[in-house]
Amino acid sequence: MKKITRDQVIFEMNKENEPVLSVKSGEKVIFETMDCFSGEVCSAEDTVSGIDFSKVNPATGPLFVEDAKVGDTLKVKINRISLDSQGVTLTAPGLGLLSEGIEKEETVLTEVTEETTNYKGFEIPLRKMIGVIGTAPAGEPVNTGTPHDHGGNLDTILVREGSIIYLPVEVEGALLSMGDMHSSMGEGEIMGAGSEVAGEIEVEVEVVKDSNLPLPFIETEDLYVTLASRETMEEASQLALNHMVQFLQVKTDLTFNQAGMFLSLAGDLKVSQAVNPNKTMRVEVRKDIIDK
Ligand code: CA
Ligand code: CA
Repeated sequence: MKKITRDQVIFEMNKENEPVLSVKSGEKVIFETMDCFSGEVCSAEDTVSGIDFSKVNPATGPLFVEDAKVGDTLKVKINRISLDSQGVTLTAPGLGLLSEGIEKEETVLTEVTEETTNYKGFEIPLRKMIGVIGTAPAGEPVNTGTPHDHGGNLDTILVREGSIIYLPVEVEGALLSMGDMHSSMGEGEIMGAGSEVAGEIEVEVEVVKDSNLPLPFIETEDLYVTLASRETMEEASQLALNHMVQFLQVKTDLTFNQAGMFLSLAGDLKVSQAVNPNKTMRVEVRKDIIDK
């Protein structure tokens, strides 16, 4: 299987980036990924002030997908996520939602097993996920720390093994890249970091023609999910809700009003992450209710 190694990284999603690999629609590819600190935080003594911020959030890629044209959608099926056994999380004054209470920097190593992330003796259930995944935007480049309509630093726990993420194709070849995996992360990513870990992702990419997807969309085994990222959670919520209402109107016979009422009864509006330069909100509906 074709593979992109973890030394082939970008720090902004940019239409000018040279692709490092080219595949056909329907092919499988392995992305090796570094952790979000490019592997430079290896002990409790490595704290935020020692971090080279030009090396934060490396995304492996970009991958050129043949046949992917502007206006198409890239369907990315996440077949497998394998993680290294050591992860790390950290904090420092000014980071995350509890920033005012933080007096000093602190780094904690985590141990990743088959089922849990061990954090200071607490066994936290494993939630293997991809924090950064996206295509290149048509306009200005976007750094890999920022999520927007092309994907990016979405930090959404549903971007996991078995899920499909659909991303807009804004430039020829789509230019897919990904990184920033977590072994566990709570909804919202409160302090600004998950259990950050390097690893390997196997995906299958497929071009869906002429679908003009406006925003990322996720399909899990059980859920349809719209998500949007904007400066405030309110703006992001509005976009994710609008997109879900549109989706429901296409998928069912419901009118705008009726689809909205359906969401009042059966849709879940959730915070994916509340700590990045744009906040990511999502709307989930259960497939079994819709597809009947
Ligand atoms: Ca992230
Ligand atoms: Ca992260």
